[in-house]
Amino acid sequence: MMRTYFAAVLALIWSLTTGASAPVRMTPLKVTDGVYMLEHSRGSGNSTVIFTDDGVVVLDFHIDNADQTLAFIRKTTDKKVKYLITSHSAGDHASGAWHFREDAPVWIATKNQVHDLQMQEREEFLQRKNSTEARYAAYKKGEPLTPTIGIDGPMTLYFGGLTFQITPEGRGHSTGDLTVYIPQKRVMLMGDLLDTEIHPGQGESAGVFFSNVAGWIKILDNVMARSLAVETYIPGHGPVHIGRGVKDLEEQKRYFVVMRDEVAKMVQAGKTLEQIEKEFKVPQEFAHYKRPERLRDFYKLFYHQLAEAGF
Ligand SMILES: [Zn+2]
Repeated sequence: MMRTYFAAVLALIWSLTTGASAPVRMTPLKVTDGVYMLEHSRGSGNSTVIFTDDGVVVLDFHIDNADQTLAFIRKTTDKKVKYLITSHSAGDHASGAWHFREDAPVWIATKNQVHDLQMQEREEFLQRKNSTEARYAAYKKGEPLTPTIGIDGPMTLYFGGLTFQITPEGRGHSTGDLTVYIPQKRVMLMGDLLDTEIHPGQGESAGVFFSNVAGWIKILDNVMARSLAVETYIPGHGPVHIGRGVKDLEEQKRYFVVMRDEVAKMVQAGKTLEQIEKEFKVPQEFAHYKRPERLRDFYKLFYHQLAEAGF
């Protein structure tokens, strides 16, 4: 009896803390001195905060939850947010700049992102702002902002005693993913080019999909070929693996190579896309990954992109 009661209480606690109805929590995790990743409780976009003596740098911010990121910053320091950087233009990474408006930070993005933000994302933001759906409440209060600086090539920001090497990596997860390497902290912020323990989402900007598997693999190769002094690669989705270093990138690359080959084998055996979607077995190494429903979009990408069929 007692045990049943206990189990019921545990189940209730679980559903309250992790269930779909629970409010989103952004949990700060210390990666190294002055560098914190805020992990999204439902596996959506993470944020990363870097504290310096001169102010704060924030990578990625969703209008739904960047107020939590700001609250964490205010609790930790009296310094202002000086720079915002977005890994790509998707709403879960680039819709929340408005929350930091009081500090008037400079927002750095790639020019592709500026394009996507001005075109699709702004439209989506305004649609949600005008919606009466409760889940878009955060959009009602906020405004869609646009970056201050759009970059075409690598940029080095010297700030607060740190070096931020900001590199547009080309088309992979989205049309314009960028990474940020901070050598003094031995961290590299990967945005959605790295997802851990979770099936990657295909890059999306207001319903337009962009991910390119071959490009994504190439970018991971490019980053690994730099042999950077990195202790921790910080993911766009999923938990941060402190100290796992390049193994995270190797696993992410293997994911695309192995999964694509599994799809290719089924194509070779004469399977249609519909059959692949039904019959595909996720290889053991990735069987524990969360959000398997995301695979549905990826079967399409693997299938069409294998044949260079304009997807
Ligand atoms: Zn994302």
